Amino acid sequence: MTAPVVVWLRRDLRLADQPALSVAASEGPVIPVFVLDDEIPGDRKLGGASRWWLHHSLEALARSLGRHRSKLILRRGDSVAELVKLAKETGAKAVHAIAHHEPWWREAEEALARKLDLHIHDGNYLLPPGAVTTGSGSPYKIYTPFAKVAIQRLPERDPLDEPALTSPATWPKSDELADWNLLPTRPDWAAGLRKDWVCGEAAAHDTLDEFLHIAPDYERDRNLPSIAGTSRLSPHLHWGEISPTQVWHALAGKRGEGVSTFRGELLWRDYAQTVIWQFPDYAKASYRHDFRHLKWRRSKEDLAAWQQGRTGYPLVDAGMRQLWTTGWMHNRVRMIAASFLIKHLLIDWREGERWFWDTLVDADYANNAVNWQWVAGSGVDANLFTRIMAPLTQSPKFDAAGYIREWVPELADLSDADIHDPPDEQRGGYPAKIIGHREARERALGAYRAMKTTI
Ligand code: FAD
Repeated sequence: MTAPVVVWLRRDLRLADQPALSVAASEGPVIPVFVLDDEIPGDRKLGGASRWWLHHSLEALARSLGRHRSKLILRRGDSVAELVKLAKETGAKAVHAIAHHEPWWREAEEALARKLDLHIHDGNYLLPPGAVTTGSGSPYKIYTPFAKVAIQRLPERDPLDEPALTSPATWPKSDELADWNLLPTRPDWAAGLRKDWVCGEAAAHDTLDEFLHIAPDYERDRNLPSIAGTSRLSPHLHWGEISPTQVWHALAGKRGEGVSTFRGELLWRDYAQTVIWQFPDYAKASYRHDFRHLKWRRSKEDLAAWQQGRTGYPLVDAGMRQLWTTGWMHNRVRMIAASFLIKHLLIDWREGERWFWDTLVDADYANNAVNWQWVAGSGVDANLFTRIMAPLTQSPKFDAAGYIREWVPELADLSDADIHDPPDEQRGGYPAKIIGHREARERALGAYRAMKTTI
């Protein structure tokens, strides 16, 4: 019998349009393996919401593999050591994997390639980082020119079908998923996640199908948190339950501004990978060195008020409570909540990045760090620090009354006119503003000016 081939799965938990799996299947019996890697650097260990999603996604993948009379092998430990062990146990001749660009995965891929016959395939992005270059051959640092060039090359290929899989003569032993304790128990904070999400490849395609009906209105609706105007594909894309190439193809034949704007958002995802591929430590420090001199405030109380949705700014609090309850927050509100932490509270963007890392079901090293640095103004392509979002103006502008009623129920009886900035006598038990907008703005601009004079 031909020697088996290992497929190393990470954030690519699907069977269709999975180039590593398709190539491996053409070479011999396939052993799909997921290693829960405890050696990932401390601050990048999976957050709580990610662990919840991962559990259910692995469960769904194991079921799909079962339908092909295949199996998902689970191992725990250092990825490289576990894969070397598995190859030895099974006599596997090669390992196939989809490229991952987070710095710890790049290191692991390099280390594994020194020990085993490792084949890395592209497949989690529309184009691999570095594929789109300027006239002088260097990768783009700024989104707009990057997207202009990238879009002309898309789509580069058609999505692949699920491959037929053959099994090895004997299956290696596997951990039990339940023993990994990925789900919270004491306390079980995941009720809101269970209510909102179905994980796995089939659910990702259902979500895409639903979005296709509303895609033409995406341009109009995507900024309105009170309605479901966006795809909610982010955790499915993050975990690779669906590929961006599949999403791109599903939009073929659909016209209109909404569709092209949505494609632009998918390209932000590719762009973020290009950034961390060029600057692997992007989440560790401000890209712009002047920002490393900004005097951030350290206030545990203010940070906790932001995390728990108690700032007294209804739209910010609604967003933070949606995040805590469901593991997701609307993009417009993410921008407002992030800006509030950085500018109104003058707290280091890295505190917010870490909180999102722990609480988002779509927590993604590249998308998270790139967006936080964009809002802070400290990134390679960034908004101006001095452009300070006013939550009390943004809230009526984006018609957020319904959203606030859902997530800040103590304000539910207020009128549309009052709910964005409740008058003192109507606040009831809802907290007073943690800081006034004008005062916060002056403090932030003062800190910015001081930073500029110290460098
Ligand atoms: P849609 O509007 O339907 O967009 C489709 C897809 O495009 C998304 O699923 C996502 O994969 C991609 N996309 C959309 N907007 C962006 C963007 N600004 N940057 C990169 N990709 C984008 N997104 C994450 O996936 N993970 C994160 O950890 C993350 N952290 C963020 C932190 C901050 C401070 C901000 C402002 C944004 C962050 N985003 C992150 C980007 C964005 O908010 C989410 O991708 C989006 O809200 C997901 O909802 P959706 O799937 O309905 O998006």
